[in-house]
Amino acid sequence: MPEKARALAKKDFLAHLTRKQLLELEACVRCGACFDACVVQEATGDRNISPPAKIASYRRFVDTVHGLRAKLLGRRKPAEEDVAHFLGALYACTTCGACGEVCEVGIDTQRLWWAMRRELVGMGYPAPGTLPKLLENARRHHSIFASPLELRYRIWLPPEVRPAARAELCYFEGCGVAWEAPAMAEAAVRLLSAAKIEFTLLEASRAWCCGWPLAVAGMWELQQELVENNISALEEKGITTLAVSCPCCLQQIREVWRSYGKLPFEVLHITQIIAEAVEDGRLRFTKARKERVTYHDPCQLTRGFRGPRVYEEPRTVIQHLPGVELLELERQGRLTKCCGAGGGIRGARPEVALEIGKLFLRDAARTGAETLLMNCPACYAMYVARRLPEPWGREWRAFESPVKCNDVLQYAAGFL
Ligand code: SF4
Ligand code: SF4
Repeated sequence: MPEKARALAKKDFLAHLTRKQLLELEACVRCGACFDACVVQEATGDRNISPPAKIASYRRFVDTVHGLRAKLLGRRKPAEEDVAHFLGALYACTTCGACGEVCEVGIDTQRLWWAMRRELVGMGYPAPGTLPKLLENARRHHSIFASPLELRYRIWLPPEVRPAARAELCYFEGCGVAWEAPAMAEAAVRLLSAAKIEFTLLEASRAWCCGWPLAVAGMWELQQELVENNISALEEKGITTLAVSCPCCLQQIREVWRSYGKLPFEVLHITQIIAEAVEDGRLRFTKARKERVTYHDPCQLTRGFRGPRVYEEPRTVIQHLPGVELLELERQGRLTKCCGAGGGIRGARPEVALEIGKLFLRDAARTGAETLLMNCPACYAMYVARRLPEPWGREWRAFESPVKCNDVLQYAAGFL
């Protein structure tokens, strides 16, 4: 542990938890209703890393440093091995929020895991695995990837698609899409162009990371800089609507950017704009293909933010594809299962992500679908590009499934 983590400071374990969250620590009744919702529990069966176990551990830390025990026995720092065990549990989690959706007493678990991570990182305990590299990259490149932002549009913007210098709509693909799932952005702008919807892009070097991957990993040091740059770059464009491809960007903008002030534009997911164009006839799919597909609701489109959930619109697009039949997964909408790619778990605990992935492909195969359609760059990186840190990546790429995987708009663009 770093030296900073060993010194006990006045606000340790409390600095980033709200009063509501302190109450939530006391509210967990250990009923276990969240076990069945949790993909980590399904993949590992390890109750020591379950939501109630994490809440109980954290409550003990608070009590040891600030509670009755501290008053009677004096403030003591928790044992290093207890903190290390807790960190292992806290990051063996996709922060998907499914546990909070079913929690018997209404604990907003997703926000609680975020706050705990922020607290521990702030106290000097580094986020595990490859996660600290994301912050290093962001310090240098304003993106979590080790590539200069200037390259982004050269990777995915097709030469025949011409964004306007200024328009009411700005498309923001996000760095996860640009570097891990560029085909998602290419499909999005091809569909916008086919529907004759004028859009603009931010200058490549001004479109910084939205901040979500760092926030979710507990690394908040660059948040203000990233958010303020993006808001001012978008303000200068004079747009009225921002369309994003990444569900995590959507959650981050609706929840975190808004906390920095009122946004002078509305934010939508790109499938909301494409679905509207499909419904009012501006976008028509002319090719046909007989195929059974299923659709996975990304966690951050169906829970964890204010405003309407993005549930119907991707299905509207799929239902307009000639010859395509949509079969539903058992868990969908606000109860959707996490695919195992979120919350930094691929970097922190890739062995857990791998097991979740195998189970998820099994679920998709059970629907009888030939293709699993996804709508998130993290899902895309894990299921279409089959990316996991090595050696788990090798095992993941070798894992066979009868179901092909694709992005929903990339799939739809094949019907133009
Ligand atoms: S946020 Fe998701 S992965 Fe984490 S404990 Fe809750 S259900 Fe499990
Ligand atoms: S459902 Fe809520 S109250 Fe019950 S164990 Fe899970 S977190 Fe605790």
